[in-house]
Amino acid sequence: MTIRRLPDTLVSQIAAGEVIERPAAAVKELVENSLDAGARRIDVRLEGGGQRAIVVADDGSGMSPADLLLAVERHATSKLPDDDLVHIATLGFRGEALPSIGAVSRMTIASRPKGAAEAWSVEVDAGRVSAPVPAALPGGTRIEVRDLFYPVPARLKFLKQERTEAGHVVDAVRRLAMVADHVAFTVDDAGRNVLNMPVVLGDVADRRLERLGRVLGREFPDNALKIEAERDGVRLTGYIGLPTLHRPSAASQYLFVNGRPVRDRLLLGVVRGAYQDLVARDRHPVLALYLDLPAELVDVNVHPAKAEVRFRDSGLVRGLIVGALRHALAGAGHRAASTVGTAALGVARANLPPPQFTLRAAPSPYRLAEAAAFQAPSSGFAAPTQAGYAVLEAPAARIAEAESDSIASPLGAARAQLHGTYVVAETGDGIVIVDQHAAHERLVFERIKNQLAANGIARQLLLVPEVVELGTLEAERILARAEELGELGLLVEPFGPGAVVVREVPALLGKTDVPALVRDLADDFGTLDAAQSLKDRLSEVCATMACHSSVRAGRQLTGTEMNALLREMEATPHSGQCGHGRPTYVELKLADIERLFGRR
Ligand code: ADP
Ligand code: MG
Repeated sequence: MTIRRLPDTLVSQIAAGEVIERPAAAVKELVENSLDAGARRIDVRLEGGGQRAIVVADDGSGMSPADLLLAVERHATSKLPDDDLVHIATLGFRGEALPSIGAVSRMTIASRPKGAAEAWSVEVDAGRVSAPVPAALPGGTRIEVRDLFYPVPARLKFLKQERTEAGHVVDAVRRLAMVADHVAFTVDDAGRNVLNMPVVLGDVADRRLERLGRVLGREFPDNALKIEAERDGVRLTGYIGLPTLHRPSAASQYLFVNGRPVRDRLLLGVVRGAYQDLVARDRHPVLALYLDLPAELVDVNVHPAKAEVRFRDSGLVRGLIVGALRHALAGAGHRAASTVGTAALGVARANLPPPQFTLRAAPSPYRLAEAAAFQAPSSGFAAPTQAGYAVLEAPAARIAEAESDSIASPLGAARAQLHGTYVVAETGDGIVIVDQHAAHERLVFERIKNQLAANGIARQLLLVPEVVELGTLEAERILARAEELGELGLLVEPFGPGAVVVREVPALLGKTDVPALVRDLADDFGTLDAAQSLKDRLSEVCATMACHSSVRAGRQLTGTEMNALLREMEATPHSGQCGHGRPTYVELKLADIERLFGRR
């Protein structure tokens, strides 16, 4: 066995594997370089989702021919002038991106420094660098990357569909645009503009909020609280959404540390803690937080793509964020609901008897009630807020008339609806508390499945079609699924740039907040691979749909409706859990209740 030194190109290809795992990673590195070069405008163009071509053009400082040659050498950087790995003021610092990209593609860099008479360009083909030649470029830098990963075909196999890869690119650029709000960004994919972030006039805070609105949704600025806090030299700024503004995933929670987008699991837990009791467990608030702290207190050099950081004192950071968020939320006039006594919960048993599968021929009054609710909006809903979400009033308890025979059924006879959310029923030997929202979600899911399997989902024509304003990318995500959504009963069509129009909804949803539903679906689809069918993810889609339909928490039910709900749950498989795996009801046996009162 002989030990040999690997050729440089091979070393670079190996290194590239760590930094550049997909087109979005290359775009992120190139855009970071443009930002480090002081660009005020950055334009990205993609072909083939970035695999066939990526072009990043900026109006930054540019490079001389000598710098061009150095820039594509490994570990050559202009960004660590004092060899100081602690006080890093730029996004880049390792001198690895350009040689890595050049090792696994055909890359052309054209550049012209400010005031220079002409532009020059160099080419790197799978690591082989050619001599600089004069080029035509008015100023700044233009980097073209073609045939990404062609020298490493194994990597090509891991790429997803073009649309998915383009989506990752847009996500990466968005993150950087949320920090650099003084820079204009565009992204074009196959000739279509998919991201456009101009620079708006106004002071710094206006600019930031405007930009956040472009990323987090038009409703964000009107529903956001400003965050400003400082402790021991650590500064926290940003905006957090009101608890009423929530999404089905945590994808709209952003953290930036010293101007760098980072993904930190710390944030997820901290946010959950701060919004505890204010947002349902399966919903996630929307926010963007900017943490600025002395370089000594954070290590940015722990992740190849610089996407993670390590805090010297993560307890301090966590405390600062929770404190600032709770303070802002309390100031907004929201009060955390008191949690249920844990003692009572300790004896409450979830999903005790498996529901009986009795098939019924007669139409359920529960369904009929829903159809009526569609025509006549329930009084349980107050006027929609500017966010488009309905504010739910807590109606007084409703007492159901006893139904003589149902007390023997597994879920008992409905006795009351409390807080517009819980149906309380009496069984032979205890009480059952049903979360009507969770139960409804499961029933909708099962009905959609049954209707799909039978003769298709019945649609309800909207008297007035709903136009829903989304971002370009979100609208595309929805429209790409238009056919599948049609099968599920939701008829959507394009409506100008960044908007869709909804003409029909699944009849079984009843009265629906259509814009909120479509926005949530777009959010869901952001986490789906383009190749994944909605039917494979039916439970998630149904959960999202059911979330926006009429019998969600807050709707008052008549006694007949309550009992019909219980009977339909008994007749529906899996009705003990909602689509997210939460229980739809809990049962307290009389014996448990007696124990609670010390009677046993
Ligand atoms: P790093 O960003 O870590 O320094 P890179 O390989 O990304 O390493 O870039 C190498 C060098 O090339 C940078 O330090 C910078 O001097 C120069 N450079 C890269 N992109 C640009 C650009 N768009 N404009 C001006 N200079 C650039
Ligand atoms: Mg760089």
